[in-house]
Amino acid sequence: MTKTISVFNQKGGVGKTTTNINLSTYLAKMGKKILVVDADPQGNTTSGLGIDKEILDLSLYDGLINEEACEDIKIKTHFENLDLVPSKPELAGAEIEMTAMKDREIRLRKFLEGCKNKYDFIFIDCPPSLGLISLNALAASDSILVPIQCEYYALEGVSQLMNTVNLVKRGLNNPLHIEGIIMTMFDGRTNLSLQVVDEVCGYFGEQVYKTVIPRNVRLAEAPSHGLSIVEYDDRSKGAEAYEALAKEFLGRTEMKQ
Ligand code: ADP
Ligand code: MG
Repeated sequence: MTKTISVFNQKGGVGKTTTNINLSTYLAKMGKKILVVDADPQGNTTSGLGIDKEILDLSLYDGLINEEACEDIKIKTHFENLDLVPSKPELAGAEIEMTAMKDREIRLRKFLEGCKNKYDFIFIDCPPSLGLISLNALAASDSILVPIQCEYYALEGVSQLMNTVNLVKRGLNNPLHIEGIIMTMFDGRTNLSLQVVDEVCGYFGEQVYKTVIPRNVRLAEAPSHGLSIVEYDDRSKGAEAYEALAKEFLGRTEMKQ
């Protein structure tokens, strides 16, 4: 059965896109069939997977607004087992255009129904906001993965995030659960990073993955080459961490089934 997961945190710069790209590519490498949906108008997942947005005909915008089929919009990436529903800047306008449409919160869910059964996992890369696109992502998902940066104020906004999740659970009758919490940009040289991990574990308990993603410059460099970390530098600390995360993720999801 396909599991749809939103990579979700309304804060920007916490590692959503980096996690989406690198977790997906490791899972694809392990033989899982993956669809990545770039739901951020910035399109960093699209370019990070080596896709030139300029030459794209259709994007998620056309799926949400013009009801173009997922089958017609999704493209193959250069990575085996990994397909992408790309994003273009015009997606920013979709948020306003959708406001007046019927079923405005479940347009993404309907769109994905068209190609869902071909994949083991669908990962939705959310924009850094709690707007209508994020609501659509949550409404289309079985669970959320929440990257949290090891920084001051790490838990700031978390209650707002959980409120939004509860709104979707009740309002849209979707039994959304937390798939896991991922600590990102960990710096082992500072006490702060350790304190933040403690604090987040205190709040979320067992939902926090044991694998922590370190701050690693190779992870930041890879997208500018249109490559995931496994292709760019598979011996880096960042690569080791995302590979370990993919294994832990699979172990946990399989236990839940
Ligand atoms: P978000 O999608 O939540 O806005 P990104 O994944 O785009 O966050 O990450 C924000 C910035 O931090 C990007 O420039 C990215 O390359 C960088 N980055 C993300 N994770 C790491 C990491 N573990 N180590 C170093 N840089 C990182
Ligand atoms: Mg992003």
